[in-house]
Amino acid sequence: MIEVQNLTKRYGENAAIRGVSFVARPGQVTGFLGPNGAGKTTTMRILTGFMPPSDGKATVAGYDVFEQSMEVRKRVGYLPENVPLYRDMTARDYLMYIAEIRGVRNRRARADEVLARVGLSSRADSRIRTLSKGMKQRVGLAQALVHNPPVLILDEPTIGLDPIQVLELRDVVRDLGHDHTVLFSTHILSEAEQVCDNVIIINQGEIVAEGSPAALRGQLERGGRIITRVSGDLNKALSVMRAVSGVADAELGMDGIVATPAPGADPRGAIAQALVGAGIGLVELRPLAINLEEIFLELTRQETHEPEPEAITETSDEEMSS
Ligand code: ATP
Repeated sequence: MIEVQNLTKRYGENAAIRGVSFVARPGQVTGFLGPNGAGKTTTMRILTGFMPPSDGKATVAGYDVFEQSMEVRKRVGYLPENVPLYRDMTARDYLMYIAEIRGVRNRRARADEVLARVGLSSRADSRIRTLSKGMKQRVGLAQALVHNPPVLILDEPTIGLDPIQVLELRDVVRDLGHDHTVLFSTHILSEAEQVCDNVIIINQGEIVAEGSPAALRGQLERGGRIITRVSGDLNKALSVMRAVSGVADAELGMDGIVATPAPGADPRGAIAQALVGAGIGLVELRPLAINLEEIFLELTRQETHEPEPEAITETSDEEMSS
């Protein structure tokens, strides 16, 4: 379990993260999703006990990351953005070496166990320099596992890998999520959707949303646009829909008529009734599918377009409504 309360980290005048709070639970992969510079690495470095926060509190496996950082390090496996690997060692020798540094007994057996866990048993005797980038990254993951920590913190582990290597690594991470608390950072939205049970979205040092990918989608679908497919006269259907109370606007889209509800309204029932009442065949009526990418854009747009009090001008009002 990772519990973070009101964490702030300042570098001089600037705060890299501000008032960050979240929980990552055992048996789950928690996604830490945000664009470059959002504060993901800063948060992860604090959680691994390598850097103190300026303010706030965090515990990992029940230990305070600042007060009990040695206890935390024993219980955390960390895969940093760039893991230093000894290129001339074999994968097994490297892992046995890391196991020795971390005081692990039965080093050879443990090295072989973690190689199996990341799907690299067949390359145990290969020198690291001969491995593909994806395999090297899996050796990096294996070093994070070698001391059998309950918590794994993985900083953008799929960056720079080719698409097949990305899929293989995601599979390994999903599998590790079953018996670890995994915090997995990424700036790739579809990746968070595919790998994570729970997603925390961070932007400009602050958490802007949190939930399962499905819950985040649901949050934006409420009050979100509705797509309707009809049989018959499209233009008539369009004017019928525009007249429905609770519909702010309706327009022809690629797959049907897209209606935007008035704030707080759910006009789905009224749309169906009005169309059928006007003799138009209703083929389908559903919320417009929205993916995590759109959710992310929506949430970060709200953040970045928030005008400064002194900056409210006609231009920014137009930008807000466009
Ligand atoms: P990336 O994917 O680019 O690493 P990130 O989400 O991990 O992004 P951080 O590396 O945590 O973001 O950086 C957050 C902010 O803190 C950025 O604005 C960065 O410039 C700043 N920052 C990070 N480390 C330092 C440092 N040592 N000194 C000063 N500013 C820093």
